[in-house]
Amino acid sequence: MEIVHEPWYRRLHLQIFAAMAAGTVAGLVGGAEFAAKVAWLGTLFVSLLKMIIVPLVLTSIIAGVSSVGRGAGLGRLFGRTLGYYVLSSLLAILVGLLFVNVIRPGVGADLTTAAHKDLPVLDSPTDIGSLLLRVVPTNVAKAAAEADMLGLIFFCILFGLAITALPDEPQRLLRQVFDAAFQAMMKLTGWIIRFAPIGVFGLIARVVGDSGVEAFRALGLYMLTIASGLTVHLFVTLPLLLIFLGRINPRIHFRNMLEPLTMAFSTSSSAATLPVTIRAVREKVGVSDRVTSFVLPMGATVNMDGTALYECAGALFIAQVLGAELTLVQQGIVVMTALLASIGAAAVPSAGLVIIFLVTEAVNLRGPQVELIIGTMFAIDRPLDMYRTAVNVFSDSCGAAIIARAEGEESVDTA
Ligand code: ASP
Repeated sequence: MEIVHEPWYRRLHLQIFAAMAAGTVAGLVGGAEFAAKVAWLGTLFVSLLKMIIVPLVLTSIIAGVSSVGRGAGLGRLFGRTLGYYVLSSLLAILVGLLFVNVIRPGVGADLTTAAHKDLPVLDSPTDIGSLLLRVVPTNVAKAAAEADMLGLIFFCILFGLAITALPDEPQRLLRQVFDAAFQAMMKLTGWIIRFAPIGVFGLIARVVGDSGVEAFRALGLYMLTIASGLTVHLFVTLPLLLIFLGRINPRIHFRNMLEPLTMAFSTSSSAATLPVTIRAVREKVGVSDRVTSFVLPMGATVNMDGTALYECAGALFIAQVLGAELTLVQQGIVVMTALLASIGAAAVPSAGLVIIFLVTEAVNLRGPQVELIIGTMFAIDRPLDMYRTAVNVFSDSCGAAIIARAEGEESVDTA
């Protein structure tokens, strides 16, 4: 584990915090004009992170799975991982359900004067069948080229398994090659994140400079509902899971995760944050490569607690605005489809909002009015997206730490 003896001003997370503050001030003072001038700094930084996602996912999963081996070990790890994903996402959804039913932000809300934005076109699955079909890539190179994470992960797990079925010599050789490539990718990640403060400055200045305050007013209560739910999940539910399932002190875990948390917040993308998450969970939290490479890449794609909470609360908000009272059964349908939507949402900005149609369709909320409301929600989505992405990433790291403990790794989150 890394022992840090740096003066405070050289600590990366403090530099990132300072960059966030500077970006906020610059965005407020300089407005859209200044934002346009510095936006490229953020774009460049996110491009650097995205550049390493595919090779990193590839090498980490193949190295990880081939070292776990076949049989009971892998099955158990897989079961624990899926169990954690479903449990934490469902808890998040229940928190969202509670808040939206207590605050009822959509009742009587008048969105006619609020700003409205056209939705981005993202390739999102529209039903369960197509979600499952996406798991098997018909062309691995294409899956990699299009950063189709689920397809890539599926192939890498099978390839890792195939390695374990080889005779000793080729097996050792391939393991060493992928393990060494993984180490090299981690090194590269370390270099790239030295630039994080500059990138974060550009990203935050753009967000603040571009968004007017007006749009936020009409949807204030809705934003408060989502933000409160996310806060409870981040600071109460997940820490309780850490304590009861992992015997881990949440404070230590939070401290170890500061860099990925700030990065998720600034980039609004779990995928772009993945290299930083993997690095922190390995080096600071102290989780083995075997568990890290199994839980995190898949988690970034399918385990999105913040998004799950958002899908449920957002869909019920829409129902409230339209004056549609949902029955208990319909609320149950919202819970289940919110879980599926969070699994299907891509780990990129705004994906959670675009996929909310999957949930609204399931309870027959459709038509131009629904589209208009979602467009209005999109106009103010960025800050909520930043927050839910941080929750998504934090839940993955909690899962890695809890599963590592369950697998007998005692040195997790001890410092
Ligand atoms: N931006 C989120 C993420 O990357 C997904 C979402 O929009 O909810 O985790």
